[in-house]
Amino acid sequence: MDHFLYRDGMLHAEDVPLSEIAAAVGTPFYVYSTATLTRHYRLFEEALSPLPHVICFAMKACGNLSVVRTLANLGAGADVVSVGEYLKARAAGVPGDRIVFSGVGKTREEMRTALTGGIRQFNVESEPELAALDEVARSLGLRAPVAIRVNPDVDARTHEKIATGRKENKFGIPISRAVEVYAQAAAMKGIEVMGIDVHIGSQLTELEPFEQAYLKVAELTRALRSQGHDIRRLDLGGGLGIPYERSNSAPPLPTEYGEVVKRTVGDLGCEIEIEPGRLIAGNAGLLVSSVIYVKSGEERDFLILDAAMNDLMRPTLYGARHEIVPVQEAVPGMEQRLYDVVGPVCETGDTFARQYPLPALGPGDMVAFRSAGAYGAVMASEYNARPLVPEVLVNGDQFAVIRRRPSYDEMINRDSIAPWLQS
Ligand SMILES: *Cc1c(COP(=O)(O)O)cnc(C)c1O
Repeated sequence: MDHFLYRDGMLHAEDVPLSEIAAAVGTPFYVYSTATLTRHYRLFEEALSPLPHVICFAMKACGNLSVVRTLANLGAGADVVSVGEYLKARAAGVPGDRIVFSGVGKTREEMRTALTGGIRQFNVESEPELAALDEVARSLGLRAPVAIRVNPDVDARTHEKIATGRKENKFGIPISRAVEVYAQAAAMKGIEVMGIDVHIGSQLTELEPFEQAYLKVAELTRALRSQGHDIRRLDLGGGLGIPYERSNSAPPLPTEYGEVVKRTVGDLGCEIEIEPGRLIAGNAGLLVSSVIYVKSGEERDFLILDAAMNDLMRPTLYGARHEIVPVQEAVPGMEQRLYDVVGPVCETGDTFARQYPLPALGPGDMVAFRSAGAYGAVMASEYNARPLVPEVLVNGDQFAVIRRRPSYDEMINRDSIAPWLQS
């Protein structure tokens, strides 16, 4: 459930008509709902209680400071994958001891910043990284809290570009080598082993892969404890999927996911960490766009929008399909047309949907892409010199621009002319 509903024939974000935001901000824009973000966060809270737990929002899904602060105010931590995200999490108000640092390529510089600034734990993904972290921590006279990310070799049954738990993927250390690597870690003066980390992929629509992975983590926990390691935290990653199209069968709910967690690792006495991104932010956001032209081709009609692949990459990147709805509600019984919905970018890949049923639309009419709150704005670029799409946050009957659209001057002035080219 989300908080984007029609009222008096107009799509609203909570109590705000999208037409009002469009008039203030122009299109295209992203809009997020505080109520939906809150609801999704609380679903995870309920799903994991009464286990001791921390929900670390995966900032790569939606890193706007206002979105992260909304969640931080509810008690969320953050999962970050770069020092940029670390600094943004801190700026949003997430305390260091609620931030976990994931990713296969942390640099020494990134480690230093997080160690001195305060960090809950590093999720270490390789032996060279472990050695580097040990060195950096010792040079600062500190001990780095660590979970080692294990790769359980489980098929997440999701899109190949976002599956991370197979042995051929670049992530984590093979679970078969874990005992050896934990022994190395225990001998390092700059490392304090806290627990185990696993994340098998994103947009999972079944529970079975989670169950398989978590059973392996439970087994590993027992094995490591028998070797004397104090395993007190389990980071179970993110990855729970969301429905993108109305016709999709609904993915499992957080409560059902919570049951899997309890069944597999609930009796180990560990603090549970999870890192959901998509499920919290995905259906909490829309991308709103206006029709520029309707172009009738020989075989099909093209709906040419002012949003493009640079604003929402998922369709061209993953072949993803987002539900597209008219902002002005279709009158019941109104004829539907089939459109190829495209943006203005000069690539055929700039296509959001083919032969998509919508009421007859004309220039100036608006459409909204649903489920665009995760991996939407964060992936946007200025390809074709299109200014970065702005973001808006709604809370009840209020809205605020939380990232404004840059002006053309700002965009141009980010480049500079090399000295030898200046006349
Ligand atoms: C991407 C990622 C997540 C979030 O995944 P979602 O599918 O958005 O829940 C969590 N943890 C790690 C390590 C990730 O790379």
